Amino acid sequence: METIETLQKEIASLKEQNSKLQLTLSDVKIDTQYATSLKDNNLRFRTIFESSRLGNKIIGSDLTILEVNAAMLSLLGYDRKEELIGTRILDYTPQEYHQHWKQLQESLWRNASPSFSLETCLRKKDGSLMWCNINSIIFQDNDKTYGFTIIENITVKRELRVHKDEFINIASHELKTPLTSLKAVIQLFNRIIKKDPVITEKVIELARNAEHYVEKLTRLVEDLLNSTRMGEGQLKLTKSKFTLKDLLDGCCNHVRLSGTHQIKHTGDLSLEVIADKYKLDQVLVNLVNNAVKYAPGAVDIIIHVEDLQDNVMISVIDEGTGISEDYIPFLFDRYYRVNQDGNQNSGLGLGLFISAEIIRKHGGAIGVKSELGRGSSFWFTIPKDI
Ligand code: ADP
Repeated sequence: METIETLQKEIASLKEQNSKLQLTLSDVKIDTQYATSLKDNNLRFRTIFESSRLGNKIIGSDLTILEVNAAMLSLLGYDRKEELIGTRILDYTPQEYHQHWKQLQESLWRNASPSFSLETCLRKKDGSLMWCNINSIIFQDNDKTYGFTIIENITVKRELRVHKDEFINIASHELKTPLTSLKAVIQLFNRIIKKDPVITEKVIELARNAEHYVEKLTRLVEDLLNSTRMGEGQLKLTKSKFTLKDLLDGCCNHVRLSGTHQIKHTGDLSLEVIADKYKLDQVLVNLVNNAVKYAPGAVDIIIHVEDLQDNVMISVIDEGTGISEDYIPFLFDRYYRVNQDGNQNSGLGLGLFISAEIIRKHGGAIGVKSELGRGSSFWFTIPKDI
């Protein structure tokens, strides 16, 4: 009897141990699956890292290079990975670009901004310079932080851009001189014929049109010249103190005279700023001209002023075509034009680029709120600086 009871207990204990073993076995299975998937992921990452035609590198938190791929070696003209591993990217950066790199690295590592892009140049093993586009991200692995960087050689693209800018610069300079003379002649001609009793209304109108087209041409040439200057970082501000009323009253008379649209001012125009009045006028003219161009059926264009304590915000609001949100991130890029609803309006895609550069130079921000079919509100802020 006793033996049967003992055997039953043993059977129960064996069953319990068996079920525990089953559980452990399934854990082991999961662990092996996890380890296999990790291994697969690792293999996939290594294949992508190694076979990318773009230079790839991984750096540690002390900024030393831990890993590079074959493309990175060839970009910098080295043969063996060991030559790069243990060095830092600043070792390959000409002195004049160090500060730029340092600021970006600091923003990435200390302020934990998740990624950055940078156009800069690196020195190759043979001493020659290579222009490149850098994209970096920060990632965590086993409680440690690493940086992963992709480097693209853009030397040829950049040379083409520099040649194009040089050409535009020379061509617009050459155009500007005869255009200025032509403008002066037409203005004088207009003044003379107005006083002449023999000249017919038709001739006066033609001469007025000629002045209008020369104005338009002058603005286009100015835009081209400005855009190359800005690309070279040559934008200089001449600041003075003025009220926003001074700025707005003198701005966009050409629109008022044409009679197609009405410009209304709202908000506190008595606000004062210290800024470059001529350049802000240029920004407003760009925004208002766009409102006229892209809101042909609407009558009112509102320029609204808002006090933001240390800054002022100015918005140019129209009830025109509006812009699809897909295009908005690119609007302020150089030469960007929206190809929407068969955009028939002429332009160079420079007005918003130039406006953004002027506002950035003032330490302000620029943007747009827009709804397709309803209209747009282009806004910018500038510090009062008072
Ligand atoms: P441009 O007018 O010469 O094309 P801009 O840089 O001034 O160049 O504007 C870029 C693009 O933004 C324009 O091509 C146009 O499609 C769009 N855009 C600008 N302002 C407006 C507006 N008020 N309403 C609708 N679209 C606009």
